[in-house]
Amino acid sequence: EQLANQIAAGEVVERPASVVKELLENAIDAKSTKIEIFIEEAGLKSIQIIDNGEGIAEEDVENAFKRHATSKIHRRDDLFRIRTLGFRGEALPSIASVSKVMIETAVAGAKQGSALILDGGKIISHKPAALRQGTKITVEQLFYNTPARLKYVKTLQTELANIGDVVNRLALSHPEIAFRLVHDGHVMLQTTGSGDLKQTIAGIYGLPIAKKMLPIAAENLDFKLSGFISLPELTRAGRQYLSIMINGRYIKNHQLNRAIINGYGSKLMVGRFPIVVLEIQTDPLLVDVNVHPTKQEVRLSKETELQQLISKAINDQLREQVL
Ligand code: ADP
Ligand code: MG
Repeated sequence: EQLANQIAAGEVVERPASVVKELLENAIDAKSTKIEIFIEEAGLKSIQIIDNGEGIAEEDVENAFKRHATSKIHRRDDLFRIRTLGFRGEALPSIASVSKVMIETAVAGAKQGSALILDGGKIISHKPAALRQGTKITVEQLFYNTPARLKYVKTLQTELANIGDVVNRLALSHPEIAFRLVHDGHVMLQTTGSGDLKQTIAGIYGLPIAKKMLPIAAENLDFKLSGFISLPELTRAGRQYLSIMINGRYIKNHQLNRAIINGYGSKLMVGRFPIVVLEIQTDPLLVDVNVHPTKQEVRLSKETELQQLISKAINDQLREQVL
């Protein structure tokens, strides 16, 4: 059983950033409106996530760490969900099998909370805890018992950048949730949870950048596009500054990145990327979910149409600035 968990962990938790992603998705699924993330040494020393969500009932806490024991109901209307079905109920047991975990959680209306401590997936203690609605989970010494996995982890800088990306994406796709990311005591990101996309961008990239970004909006029969773009002067070296959400989910798609770059035309220097946050609304049936579950890459029907819509919307907005 422990071995099975560790093998599963090899797929679900490749690196500190994947732990952060799984834990944040759980906090989001639990309807949290405020989520704090404390990281030490790029997540290898500790990852702590505190949410104000629904919590886990006393009698369910131990089960949450057993494989496939959970049965979170996945909304059938949300096709993106299918991509994560393969990992249903595997995240917590996988993470716990390769680290030391402490969880404190309480549900609304409970008399007390509960605190569970696990080491390498084994339950060490389960006690009552103070009442505070929501969940606080701490993952320490990640991969301490899987040296091969630890060796595979890149430099702390790379791992931290990956964690930053994960939190950025989830924060951008959930402007209604207040996120705060703190690394070794230093605040890296803080959003207000106001629901406003531009305010969320300010929380991620800073107010001076957010202020300079331009709104875009366009639609055709199949797609409705909105969001913010930077002027071609404001560029970055990495393509991680291109954020695309479809129906509220962060996605990756090379063709759409291309379409953004094309929209800027010759105004961009080679190898430089603008800061762009795009939200696309479409019929979920146009989104192909038949992709590898760990990748965020999705395919779309009518992709060429969407590419044209994006390029033109950006091009039009930039031309207006020149005139
Ligand atoms: P899954 O998310 O696929 O159900 P996980 O292993 O990630 O599986 O989580 C197991 C279960 O633990 C979840 O289904 C949920 O009921 C509960 N859970 C985990 N994290 C939280 C959280 N932050 N708040 C409330 N419940 C949680
Ligand atoms: Mg989960």
